[in-house]
Amino acid sequence: MSLLSSLIKADDCAGCRLCCWFTRYDLWETPVIDDALRDIILERYPETKFVSKERGGSLFVMKESPQTDPKYAYQPERYNCPMLDENGCKLADDKPFECQIWPYRIMSQEGKLLISLSLLCKPILENSFSSIVSLLKSGLAEKIIAHSKMHPSIIKEYTDGYPILMYIK
Ligand code: SF4
Repeated sequence: MSLLSSLIKADDCAGCRLCCWFTRYDLWETPVIDDALRDIILERYPETKFVSKERGGSLFVMKESPQTDPKYAYQPERYNCPMLDENGCKLADDKPFECQIWPYRIMSQEGKLLISLSLLCKPILENSFSSIVSLLKSGLAEKIIAHSKMHPSIIKEYTDGYPILMYIK
């Protein structure tokens, strides 16, 4: 079951896929792939290309997109994740942890860790603010923190415009 199933329906996710498209300005948002997942992907899709990250893990080399969906027409230079096909994410339940928790993000702000929210995920924003925070408090935050300890390269630098939901002590 999805980590966010109490807030978003699988069909809403599958029909949107906004988090699998990037512009040149948000390539920093692309998911970090840990070494074990990279091996799985290379076994299934040997043509996949990666770049290594300094603090561990890898990023996909994104493909410039032929996307013609009008909802993206205002954004030039679009890229899509190589794991995205017409049926959605080819990795299904094996998708990267950051994709499993998006639009929640773990970030660092002047040395302090925090969990924030991307405001681009419309289905999640249909929930009340209290239910978005409650999900974090009912175990999701612990999972995010535990994963970030094992894979610190998923921690992004804080960027203005991301509401901060909680600081991590
Ligand atoms: S790995 Fe899957 S869920 Fe994550 S960005 Fe790529 S296609 Fe989307």
